[in-house]
Formats: sequence, C-alpha cells, structure tokens
Amino acid sequence: MTSQGITVLGSTGSIGESTLKVLALHPDRYHVIALSAHSNFERLAEQCKQHRARYAVISDKDKANQLRAALDAHGCSAEVLAGHNALSEAACLDETEVVMAAIVGAAGLESTLRAVESGKRLLLANKESMVIAGELFRKAAAESGATIIPVDSEHNALFQVLPKNFDKGLSQVGVEQLILTASGGPFLHTERAELENITPEQACKHPNWDMGRKISVDSATLMNKGLEIIEARWLFNARPEQIAVIVHPQSIVHSMVAYRDGSVLAQMGMPDMRTPIAYALAWPDRIEAGVERLNLADVHKLEFYQPDLERFPGLGLAFQVLEAGGNAPVTFNAANEVAVDAFLHHRIGFLQIASVVSAAMERCKQGKIGSIDEVLEFDRVAREAAVQCVNSLV
Ligand code: NAD
Ligand code: MG
Repeated sequence: MTSQGITVLGSTGSIGESTLKVLALHPDRYHVIALSAHSNFERLAEQCKQHRARYAVISDKDKANQLRAALDAHGCSAEVLAGHNALSEAACLDETEVVMAAIVGAAGLESTLRAVESGKRLLLANKESMVIAGELFRKAAAESGATIIPVDSEHNALFQVLPKNFDKGLSQVGVEQLILTASGGPFLHTERAELENITPEQACKHPNWDMGRKISVDSATLMNKGLEIIEARWLFNARPEQIAVIVHPQSIVHSMVAYRDGSVLAQMGMPDMRTPIAYALAWPDRIEAGVERLNLADVHKLEFYQPDLERFPGLGLAFQVLEAGGNAPVTFNAANEVAVDAFLHHRIGFLQIASVVSAAMERCKQGKIGSIDEVLEFDRVAREAAVQCVNSLV
C-alpha cells in the first residue's frame, strides 16, 4: 500500500492531538504534509518536528516569526505558512490526499470547504462548518468527487451502521430514523436553579469525554447535540423528522439507525475519539486506534432517557432551526460561539447562553444561502447581534 499524505488543520487541539496519536501508530500508511495551529506556535513546532511535517501553518500571522524561531530551535526545516488564508492553501496542497478538519468553530469554514472543492478525502470534526454551510458542502462534494467522512462520534457511528448507498435517500434504503445519543453532559441531573451558578471550570469537566473548552460547554448546554442534529441533516441528507435524540449517560452507544423492518443498528465502543478518527482515516479498512477495548460486563448497564428540553432549551431551539433552514443555522451557530466565549470569560451565566442565542435569532432576519460569501455575511451580522445581546446582560 502507498503512504497517504495528510494535513491536520487544528493539530494542537484535542482532536488534532488524538489524530497525531493514531497516525504515529501507522508510519507506513500515512505521512504528515501540514499541521496548523491558531497561536500555540511552541506545540506546533514540536509536532512538526516529531511528525516531520513539510509545512507549519499558523493562522495568527503575528506569531509567524516566533514559529520560525521555535522550528529552528528544534532543528525542523518545515516551511512556515501564515495567516487565515494559509489554512485554505494548506487544505488543497497537491501532496495532500487526506485533510483532517479539526479547527473549532466557523473559523474552520473556508479551509474545510476548500479541501472538499479540491477533491480531498475530508475527515470532518469541525461540525460548525457543516452546520452553517451544509448545502454548499454537499454541492462541492458532488462536483469534485470528494469523500466526506464524519469524525464526530455520533455521525461516525451512523456512517458505520448505514448502508453504503445511503446517499440515494434514507427512505430509499429502508431507514426510518437516525437516533443520536447524547451523554447529557455534566449537569444531566442538576436542578435548573443550580444551573444558574455553574462556572466555566465545572462546565468543562465532562464525565466521559476529554475535549476542547468550546465543545465541552456545548455538551453541558446540549447545544452540541443541537449542532449535531443539523450536522446529521446535511451529512446524511436527512429530513428533520428523520432525526431524533436520546440521552445515554454512559456514552457507550455512539448512535443508532432504526430501519423499516424494526431493526435498530448501533455502534458501540469506549468514549475515545481515536476510534472514530481511525475509522475515518482507514475507511473502508479498520486499523489499530490504540484505545481501551469495550467490555460490557464492566459497564453493567446502558441507560436511555428522553432529553429534557426545559432545562436544556438550546436543544429545542436547534430543532426549530433544523426545520427553518436557510440562514437560521448560521445565526444559531454564530450566536452560540459568541455566547460560549462570553461565558468562558465570566461575562454571562450558564443559563444565559441559550437566552443570548434565542434573542440573537429573534433580531436577525431570515434569509436564503447561495454562496460562501452569504454565509460569512450572515455569520458577521449574527455575531454583532449576539454581542449586543451579551452587552445588554452584563
Ligand atoms: P480545541 O479547542 O481543542 O482545538 C481547536 C484547534 O483549532 C486548535 O488547534 C486551535 O489552534 C485551532 N483554532 C482555534 N481557533 C482558530 C482560529 N480562529 N483559526 C484557526 N485555527 C483555530 O477543539 P477540539 O475539541 O479539538 O474540537 C475541534 C472540532 O472538533 C470542533 O469543531 C468540535 O466541535 C469538534 N469535535 C471535537 C470533539 C472532541 O472530543 N474534542 C468531538 C467531536 C467533535
Ligand atoms: Mg459528538
């Protein structure tokens, strides 16, 4: 087998680090072309040295000189590419066959879309880009022939248990429902009154998964599941009524597909992102991921509950956004990014995250999306509206 060139966008994050761990187990199958970080030039330089990357990409261009010096200190000759546009450049390098999109938030949109437009195999962790521009992704993949493989554990699970030809239409292949599991986050059993005083540190302590700060907060509010139902809509060409959410605190069943004949197929495993990453890398093969094996006798029980939309209004809002379509997911996502950032900086309370998103949605006009420029413009307007909502609360 020939070795494949891979670019990891967001290599210094939680998904990026896990990806590099899996790659390190398979030096014959993959070689690293480019790695990227927003500002952590020290870690990026170490990674480039260890994985013999050809390009070191830093999106905060003020850090380019420090990155060069850090690479020199490591004796690493990787070429430095700097600035936001360098991410897109790295996503479509000729030497790259596979792109792992692991930047957090809408900041990953252009580079992720460029990878698809240039026909790469896209391993998609950056769910926000699919949420806000799903239709553009579907179109670009159809035109370029790019394969998009979901890395998000739920969507990766669905990808594993759906028939290969699901793109014909879910009903055509006998699928009734995609059932996304949600751990319920750290506050599954916390009373609403107590949620008011949750700190960022408490919100970032997830019971089952070790993740970046933004997605950790999203998991605690269930906004993450809200983003994921929209992500599923685009990845699997699903109608809103074909998508359901069930709370499963053990995070062992990563999602399920319910078929017309009454069968329900689930994918299970330990909650470790290296499994979906390894599956996305090697698909349709299976490779060692370096994870602990699941022993159900140790887990004892698997529980399932309906989600509580009163304590977690963000998820209810997401179902409305899913129905509304158009620019609603852009507004929803942008407002959530602003609100989470405000929460992480102690400017607003935990329960105010959903209030800011809901208020920003009311302020922003409905619209249709036809191009990436329109997405970026709706995103900008929604951020402004959300900042005003935050300011009115502090
Ligand atoms: P993280 O915060 O740990 O890492 C984010 C990465 O993106 C870092 O490398 C950072 O340098 C880079 N980055 C941040 N802001 C940037 C900007 N403005 N421009 C360019 N690069 C920027 O995040 P994470 O937990 O690894 O999550 C990455 C993505 O994967 C998110 O979309 C998240 O929703 C998704 N995801 C994560 C997990 C998980 O277990 N961590 C699971 C499923 C999906
Ligand atoms: Mg997920």
